[in-house]
Amino acid sequence: MARSLWFAWAWLADGWQRDVVLTIDHAGIITGITAGAGQGGCDIVPGIAMPGLANLHSHGFQRAMAGLAERGNRPGEDFWSWRHVMYQVVNALDPDEIEAVNTMAYVEMLQAGFTTVGEFHYVHHDPTGKPYAARAELAGRVIAAAQASGIGLTMLPCLYSAGGIGRAAEPGQRRFINDRDAFLRLHDETADLLRAAMPDAVLGVAPHSLRAARPADVAAIGGLFPTGPVHIHAAEQMIEVDDCLTSLGAPPVAWLLDHAGVDQRWCLIHATHLTASETARLAASGAVAGLCPLTEADLGDGIFAGPAFLQAGGRFGIGSDSLIRIDATEELRQLDTSQRLRDQRRVVLSPHGSAGEVLLRGAWQGGAQAMGQPIGALAIGNRADIVVLDHAGTDLAALPPARWLDHFVFVGGTRLIDRVYAGGRLVVSGGRHHEHAPVAARFRAVLRRLIDALAG
Ligand SMILES: [Zn+2]
Repeated sequence: MARSLWFAWAWLADGWQRDVVLTIDHAGIITGITAGAGQGGCDIVPGIAMPGLANLHSHGFQRAMAGLAERGNRPGEDFWSWRHVMYQVVNALDPDEIEAVNTMAYVEMLQAGFTTVGEFHYVHHDPTGKPYAARAELAGRVIAAAQASGIGLTMLPCLYSAGGIGRAAEPGQRRFINDRDAFLRLHDETADLLRAAMPDAVLGVAPHSLRAARPADVAAIGGLFPTGPVHIHAAEQMIEVDDCLTSLGAPPVAWLLDHAGVDQRWCLIHATHLTASETARLAASGAVAGLCPLTEADLGDGIFAGPAFLQAGGRFGIGSDSLIRIDATEELRQLDTSQRLRDQRRVVLSPHGSAGEVLLRGAWQGGAQAMGQPIGALAIGNRADIVVLDHAGTDLAALPPARWLDHFVFVGGTRLIDRVYAGGRLVVSGGRHHEHAPVAARFRAVLRRLIDALAG
């Protein structure tokens, strides 16, 4: 049955509007928007409403290792020593535990302003590397976790075939590995599961990177999967850039632009180490740069070329990747402040206006594009993904609306979030997901066992 929510303020296409009624149908789609409306027949929702954000890059199981790789064992710790810990963790988790960990991650995402997740799913097999009897068993666990939490899902099964360009996989990677044919079967089975469980979810594809998917397969992927989003890690680490230069004669982003038909369907995750020409060409391609600033900082990856990319009209979105922190405004703040630290300037991403607005508009629009979903705006036909900020009891009540987005991103952050509706369903009230307590209890049991397994 359709119902109507009344908000004193809501962020619509033209900015903040007063006295807004959103009508939502039984499927959770916005079917009507009226500004300057009365409250008659509506549920009156206190606070101010804005669209939910897409978390365009997640590896859900990594929530179990957040904070477990922050201890130095030798000088020169880097991404690659972090990855060693990640392999230990992934090889210790069974399907029930992976589902429990993913559910925790998605519940926390909803509390933190993310209403859709792009799950870049690369753990496919049992710990010996053998496919499960149902090849897409673990994809099914991810889907079940998303369904239980209420978060919107773009499922991105990952093609992972090699340990490096021209190198066989390492033992730690055995749960990830498929050749092209095995992957096509896995993808088909994932499609069946998704259709049955979450028909409004989107299925894309994710060749892992030019180091872990064969370049010939990456070049062919757009043709093999003619619809849906295509996500790939690119240029996160200098070793990867150097390997591409040596083996393929070009850095990864230039190679992808030249050989893989990168266009608006594509999302290049990280895109950290780019030449000026790659930055301009990526912007012109219409692809989304999938930025994960908290993870990129935690892993010591590097800093994205933000001003040049935005000046060239580039599109971006944000993701929490390793899930070291799950927080939409912290990602945006880290994205902006890392540019300021590098350039020794202020407000470098928005020289002509509100930084909060530039960051949020970018992440709303780029996130929707990268997810291939009708999200990122409170608009007719879109999913009713709504984040409601507490207004009366916060600084927002004293500030004019033109200051609200800057306050949300740079000051108040996600602790201002009171309610979250995902697909029209109220899943967070008072800042807490309704299933938080049981989900967190299950997660803690997994974490305790994991700590024992890693110690043993
Ligand atoms: Zn990633």
